[in-house]
Amino acid sequence: MSDAAPKKTSGLGPNGDAVQGFIDKLGALPAGDHVVHGMVKAADAPGGLMLAHVGDCDHWVYIAASAIQKITDTGRVTCLGHSHTTADIQLKDPTSDLEMAFAGIANLHRQALAKVHSLPTRALIGDPCPPGFHLGRDQFGNLSCQPGP
Ligand SMILES: [Zn+2]
Repeated sequence: MSDAAPKKTSGLGPNGDAVQGFIDKLGALPAGDHVVHGMVKAADAPGGLMLAHVGDCDHWVYIAASAIQKITDTGRVTCLGHSHTTADIQLKDPTSDLEMAFAGIANLHRQALAKVHSLPTRALIGDPCPPGFHLGRDQFGNLSCQPGP
């Protein structure tokens, strides 16, 4: 046994320590509903920043600095030939009735969007054939809807 033998670490390969470090960091992230990830830029008005969904720099919303609990620079993304800074923004917990109403409505929208996004996947997983047919192979070996249960 020589000293050149690779040092046993996390068992995750040469980058294992970096991977484990990342996983540890994930565990340390706030689990709350008030963390948004997106592209950010300076706002025209002072005291805040502009936030947009990654890949859509046509639509920005203003986020006041006073609403932000914590912000983490997460690098840059390319976007139609240019690039934007991205960040994780942890918003402060809503406290007033009005803030809680807006947060609740935002949550409803997010759940509705998640539902829409999952629809095509669900259709692919399920049997795409109409009642009275089943998915099978025809005489040419191609998948198609065959008559029968
Ligand atoms: Zn852009």
